[in-house]
Amino acid sequence: MSAKILDGKAIAGEIRADIAKKTARFREQTGVVPCLAAILVGEDPASQVYVRNKQKACEKAGIQSRLERLPADIDQDALLNRIGQLNEDSQVHGILVQLPLPDSIQEAAVLDAVAPHKDVDAFHPENAGRLAQGRPRFLPCTPHGIQQLLHHSQIHTAGRHVVVLGRSEIVGKPLALMLMQRDSTTGPDTANATVTVCHSLTSNLAEITRQADILIVAIGRPNFLTADMIQPGAVIIDVGINRTDKGLVGDVDFDAVSQMAGHITPVPGGVGPLTIAMVLYNTLTAAMLSEQ
Ligand code: NDP
Repeated sequence: MSAKILDGKAIAGEIRADIAKKTARFREQTGVVPCLAAILVGEDPASQVYVRNKQKACEKAGIQSRLERLPADIDQDALLNRIGQLNEDSQVHGILVQLPLPDSIQEAAVLDAVAPHKDVDAFHPENAGRLAQGRPRFLPCTPHGIQQLLHHSQIHTAGRHVVVLGRSEIVGKPLALMLMQRDSTTGPDTANATVTVCHSLTSNLAEITRQADILIVAIGRPNFLTADMIQPGAVIIDVGINRTDKGLVGDVDFDAVSQMAGHITPVPGGVGPLTIAMVLYNTLTAAMLSEQ
């Protein structure tokens, strides 16, 4: 058996085209140009690529983007001050701080400083709490992108066993919360899952992953998930982005697992493009909320 490839790039393209239309309508009706300010601290090459991709995507959707490049040795208070100024700037609707930050800076202090109504990454405790209670303002971009990918591929999660491998604050944990809730932005069919979350201390991992109808892997370990760890016909979503000698690879051993799975995402071209589309979605949402 050979799995159907879930083309994240194509689905993200459709979503971005829809966001561009909605942005044009919003601009016409209000005269307001949605604006995203991205803060990049230091010179990390991967972060520079991510920020550039988000900026390019903004431009294509009619969303203004600003880049704040700050030196790696910036003082934490100076960074917090800059975020404070962007919070007060009525022309800026969304603020994102590209992670990781240099070790000298406390990540939590920085993420807490972003005004919750401009927090398009949805990392602020207020937005994380709202998500946990099932009344989100913004959804975190990668989990939301995965939900959109499933929806656009007509893969329903309601009543099915979804195993999430990884419990980070950015991917695994919020994704598990979103999938177990009663509803989602794409309807109840892409929520209402029975969710199991696994992590580095999970015993008998393969026994659990083999029970998954849908298995989502977000651990940052190249080619970790092997064919013997899945149920034949399962849906496999590979979130991992690992830079290796052989280029970018996911957390899933794609060649072997795709022989057993029913559906699978590639890396690159799977979840990554959806994450960017959801940054645009949240920026437009933030601009719309600012006009209410
Ligand atoms: P983190 O490093 O924050 O979290 C990794 C998680 O995986 C932890 O919960 C950890 O467990 C778990 N884990 C690590 N090793 C194992 C193992 N051997 N068995 C089981 N669980 C394990 O990573 P992120 O969530 O931020 O990112 C995960 C991957 O997704 C990375 O490759 C990252 O680059 C990629 N990513 C991709 C995005 C996209 O748009 N496609 C967006 C964001 C991330 P524990 O908690 O016990 O330590």
